[in-house]
Amino acid sequence: MTDRNLPSSNRPASETLRKKIMVELESRMMTARDLSKRLRATEKEIIGHLEHVAKSVRPPKRLIIAPSFCNQCQFTFSDRRKFSSPSRCPQCRHEGISPPAFRIEGGLESGKVDPT
Ligand SMILES: [Zn+2]
Repeated sequence: MTDRNLPSSNRPASETLRKKIMVELESRMMTARDLSKRLRATEKEIIGHLEHVAKSVRPPKRLIIAPSFCNQCQFTFSDRRKFSSPSRCPQCRHEGISPPAFRIEGGLESGKVDPT
């Protein structure tokens, strides 16, 4: 008896998920957690895709990263260009850290459309 393992890593679904992430980020700013809830993927998956999204976004579009910050002392992790959130504040050791948020800007038409 031989067990055949079907290649499960080669799913086209991941490509679709990446496109969905880009569509979401073009319409609003979201964290990895927001995206994972909305697209029903794990945060780990989302973060993996975000790394590719960051590389595939081309001018005039660009990926904006709003850095993580400490909820207690407002310390900002401005030099941290990672997609996952730090576990603890280096300044006050508080563990309540707001995760980084992401947005793709520059993809809108250049008309003066004001949503309000
Ligand atoms: Zn702090």
